[in-house]
Amino acid sequence: MAKPRVVFVLGAPGSGKGTQCEKIVQHFGYTHLSAGDLLRQERNDPASEVGQLIHNYIKEGKIVPVEITCGLIEKAMVKSGKSKFLIDGFPRNHDNLSGWNEQMGEKAEVAFVLFVECPEEVCTERILKRGQSSGRTDDNIESLRKRFNTYTKETVPIVRHYDQLEKVRKINGGTGRTPDEVFEDVKQMFQ
Ligand code: UDP
Ligand code: MG
Repeated sequence: MAKPRVVFVLGAPGSGKGTQCEKIVQHFGYTHLSAGDLLRQERNDPASEVGQLIHNYIKEGKIVPVEITCGLIEKAMVKSGKSKFLIDGFPRNHDNLSGWNEQMGEKAEVAFVLFVECPEEVCTERILKRGQSSGRTDDNIESLRKRFNTYTKETVPIVRHYDQLEKVRKINGGTGRTPDEVFEDVKQMFQ
C-alpha cells in the first residue's frame, strides 16, 4: 500500500488555516486533522490522563509535548482509513518536527507545507471577534499575545526549515481578502 500523503498547514493564529482547510476538503477530498482540535477533544475527555496538562499548555499558548500530539494525529489517521491528509497547525516547533520525523517519517509522505501569511493586526482582529462566540479558552488578548510570541519564536523557524527543502507553498491570507479570494489562490497549489 502507498504511504499516506500529508500536507501540513501552517500560519499564525487567526491566519485562516481552518477555514481554508474546510474548502480544500470539499474540493480535493482531503481529510482534515486539526492538531488543536484533536488536543481540545482529548482535553475534554474526562477519562484522559493528560487533559489537565493540555489545558494548561493551551491557555498559556505553549506547545504540547509531541508524544501527545503526534500520538493523537497518528490515531486519527489510522482511524479515518483515508490516505490524503491536511494536518492543520502542526508541526509548530522543533520538538514537533523531530517527533513527527521519528514517529511518522517512514509511515507518511509530507508533500508540502501550505503556509498562510497574514499580518498580526488582521489575525488579532479576527481572533478577538471569534472569541465572542468560540468558547475557546485561548481566544482572549492575554493568551493571544502568548500564542503570537510562540508562533514567531518557534513556528516560523519550522516554516523556514521546510522552505530550505523547497517544500513551502505560500499564500496571502491577509488584509481585506475574503476566504473565497484566498481559496482561489489555494486551489492553484493543489492542482
Ligand atoms: N497546540 C499544540 N500543538 C499543536 C497544535 C496546537 O500544542 O500541534 C496547542 C497550542 O497551545 C496552541 C493551541 O493548541 O496555541 C491552539 O492551536 P490551534 O491550531 O487550534 O489554534 P491557532 O493558534 O492556530 O489559531
Ligand atoms: Mg485552527
